[in-house]
Amino acid sequence: MDKLRGGAETHKEQQFTHPLAEQLNSTRFVRVVIDRSIRRELDYSVPPTLAEKVVVGSRVRVPFRDKKLLATVVATLEESPADGIKPIEALLGEKPVLSANLIELARWMAVYYCCPIESVMRSLLPQVIRRAEVSWRKQLFVSLARSATAEELEKLRKRAPRQAELLDAIAQLAAPAPAADVLRDTSLDNSTLRALVRRGFVELREQAVARDPHGAEKFLADADLRMNEEQTAALQLIETALQNPESHAPILLHGVTGSGKTEVYLQAIRATLARGKSAIVLVPEISLTPQTVERFKSRFSDEPEMVAVLHSHLSEGERHDEWHKLHSGRARIVIGARSAVFAPLDHLGLIVVDEEHESSYKQEEAPRYHARDVAVVRAKIEKCVVLLGTATPSLESYANTARGKYVLSKLTQRVDQCQMPLIRIVDLRLERRKEKAAAILSEKLRGAISDRLAKNEQTILFLNRRGFSTSLLCSHCGKARDCPNCSVALTFHRSNARLSCHLCGHNAAVPKRCPECGEDALIYAGFGTEKVEANVAAIFPEAVVRRMDADSMTRKDAYRETLHAFRAGKIDILVGTQMIAKGLHFPNVTLVGIINADLALHLPDFRAGERTFQLLTQVAGRAGRGEAAGEVFVQTYTPFSPSIQFARHHDFAGYFEQELEFRERCDFPPFRHAVLITVRSEHEARASFSAETLTRRLREALPNEYILGDPAPAPLEKLQGHYRFHILIRGEAILRLSRLIRETLDKLPFPEDVAVAVDVDPYQLL
Ligand code: ADP
Ligand code: ZN
Repeated sequence: MDKLRGGAETHKEQQFTHPLAEQLNSTRFVRVVIDRSIRRELDYSVPPTLAEKVVVGSRVRVPFRDKKLLATVVATLEESPADGIKPIEALLGEKPVLSANLIELARWMAVYYCCPIESVMRSLLPQVIRRAEVSWRKQLFVSLARSATAEELEKLRKRAPRQAELLDAIAQLAAPAPAADVLRDTSLDNSTLRALVRRGFVELREQAVARDPHGAEKFLADADLRMNEEQTAALQLIETALQNPESHAPILLHGVTGSGKTEVYLQAIRATLARGKSAIVLVPEISLTPQTVERFKSRFSDEPEMVAVLHSHLSEGERHDEWHKLHSGRARIVIGARSAVFAPLDHLGLIVVDEEHESSYKQEEAPRYHARDVAVVRAKIEKCVVLLGTATPSLESYANTARGKYVLSKLTQRVDQCQMPLIRIVDLRLERRKEKAAAILSEKLRGAISDRLAKNEQTILFLNRRGFSTSLLCSHCGKARDCPNCSVALTFHRSNARLSCHLCGHNAAVPKRCPECGEDALIYAGFGTEKVEANVAAIFPEAVVRRMDADSMTRKDAYRETLHAFRAGKIDILVGTQMIAKGLHFPNVTLVGIINADLALHLPDFRAGERTFQLLTQVAGRAGRGEAAGEVFVQTYTPFSPSIQFARHHDFAGYFEQELEFRERCDFPPFRHAVLITVRSEHEARASFSAETLTRRLREALPNEYILGDPAPAPLEKLQGHYRFHILIRGEAILRLSRLIRETLDKLPFPEDVAVAVDVDPYQLL
C-alpha cells in the first residue's frame, strides 16, 4: 500500500499556499484513512488551532478531490514526504474514537487478512459512530421549582384538582424524574403538567438518557459461588496471569459442558476490575441470549452501567449508547458477539472468548477476520490476559497448548456431581431394514420420548436443516427443482407452501407437474425441522411441540418467548437447528435426540469431522443438566465414523489425536495456514479465465515452500447467479504469504465483472 499524498496527488494544479504556511510547517501532519475504498492512506496538515487536539484515533473531516469526507487519523508525523498537502477541515468530537492500540490492531489485520485498511476500519467502528449522526436520546425530566404555599394549594385543589394531584406527586419525587413516567403513574396528561410549569411550580429540563436494551429487565444481585477445586485452580492461573500479563501466554480453559466455566469467567472479571482494569467477553451471537446477559448483569448489578452489550440486534440508538458507555469508561465490561472484540475500552485487563471453537467468530465478508485470533493479537498489543473457553477446543487452539504457545487449564467434572449424559448410537441402516421406509424417529428414540413424556421431563430434538422437504423430485425424469441462481435444490416449506433457496432467498410456487418432462410425478424427498415437528406432533398428539429455527423465529421476541416457555415447562419437545445446540441450560431436559448426525460429516470440508464431533458434544451437553441423568440418541448411517465414536465416549483427547494425524498427512491447519481465493463472475468463462491467470501469476510470485493448487470450480459452483472458482494455497509463513498475494492482485487488472475474494484461515470451503 503506498502511504503518501493527501489531496496532493490529485490536486497538484492548485499549489497550496496558506497564509499560515510558516506556522503550518512547524506543526504536525497527520496520516489518515478516509471512509472510502481507495486502498491508500493520505497525509494532511493540521491547522494550528487544532494542533493540540488532533491525535491518533481522532475523527476528522478532510477535503478529498472535490468532496469533504470523514476520516480516521492513524498516525501523526513531524513531516510528510508528500507535496501539495491540504489542511484538515475539522475535528469531530474531543476524545479520539480509536486508541493507538486499536489502530495498531487494524494495521495487523489489514496485513494478515490481506484486505484494505478501510475495510478493517469499517469493522472497528460501528456505522452509527462513524457517521456521528445519531446522538443520545433526550428526555424531559420534571422536578419541583418551588413549593406552593398552603393558600395556593387550597386554591389549586378547588379550581384545578388534577393539577393539585400532579403537584403532590412531583413534590414527593426524591430526584428529577422523566415527565412521561410521572404522567403515566398518575394517569394525568401533558396539559396538566404544562399548566403547572406556567404557574412556576415545576420545571422541565431536557436530559440525555441511555437507551438501555435491557432497561426493562430487573437484575437481582447475584453473589459469587463457592467454586470447586478445579474452578479454583483455573481462577488462580488467571490471577497469576493478571499480575503479569505481558509475559503470560493465552489460557485455554477446556471444561466439559456444565463444568462451570461461566462462573470462572465471572470471578476472573471481578479480579480484573479489582485491578482497575476492564474486560471484554465474547460469546457467539447465537448464545448471546437474555439468559447469558442476565448472568453478567446480575453479578455486577451494584453499578447499573457497568455492563454494556454489543450485538447485531441492537437499534442504531442503542448501539450508539452502549458504545459511548464503553468509550467514556462508565461501562467497564462488555459482553458481545464477534465485533465486540473491538470495543473501545481503555485499560483492558482481560478478554474472554467463550466457545472459542465456534466458526461464527469468523466473519464471512471482508475483513474476513476470526474474532478469537484477533482477541489473541489485541491482548498482546494491550498487554492483557486472554482466556479461551470451550468444551470442545478447536484443533488450532488445542495444538497451540501442545506446542506450549497456550496454557491449558481443565475442568473435567460437571458441577454438582451431574453425570455426563449417556450417549447411545442408533444405526439407521438397521432401522431401515426393520421398517422398510426410513422413519424420522427410530423406534428407540420414540420409546425414549414417550418415556420422558410420562415422567414429565423435556426433550430436545436436533436437526441442522430447515424446511419441510429438502427437495422436490420428479420420479419420472429424475430432475429436482434447482435454484436458478445457485447450484442447490430448492427446499419445500409447508408453512407458506413454497419452494425456497436457503442461499439466495429465491422463492417459487410449487408446480403441479414436472416443468421438465410434464409428468404428474413430483415427489418430496428429504426432510427438515418443519417435517420433524409435524411428525413428532402426529406421533405424540398429547405433547406440546415447538420448533426453533430461522423460519419460526422471525419475530423479534419469538426466541425469548419460546425459551421462556420451554424453561417454564410449558413445552415438552423442542425441535430445532443449531439455534438450540449452544450454551442453553435447562435442568429438566433429560433427553436429546440427534435426528441425523451425518449431515455435517459429508460436506467437502477438511473440518467436517471436527464440526461433527463438536456439534455432537455440544448438543449432548444440553441433556442432564439437572438432578436427573441425561440420555442422548444419535441417529446415523455411519455409526463407526471416528467423530461419532469419540463423541460417544466423551473422549476429546482420542479424537484430537486421530484428527491431528489426518490434518498433518494432508498439510491442513493447524500444520499449515490455508488461504482460499474465490474468483467469481456472472460469466462462467470469464471467472474461469481469471482464475487461471491469477494462478499462473501466483506460481511466479510464490516461493516453493507454499503449496498452490490448481484453480477448480467451487463445490458450490454457482451462488447468487455467480460462477465461482477456488484457488487454495497453503503454507506456514502466513504474513509473508498474505503480502505476496496482495502484491500479485494489485498488479493484475481484473475485468469489471470479475470479483476476487481472499480468505485467510478460511472456514467456509464451499
Ligand atoms: P459451562 O459454561 O461450563 O457449561 P456453567 O457455567 O453454565 O457451565 O455452569 C452450569 C451451572 O452450574 C450454572 O447454573 C452455574 O450457576 C452452576 N455452577 C457453576 N459453578 C458452580 C459451583 N462452584 N457451585 C455450584 N454451582 C455452580
Ligand atoms: Zn439460490
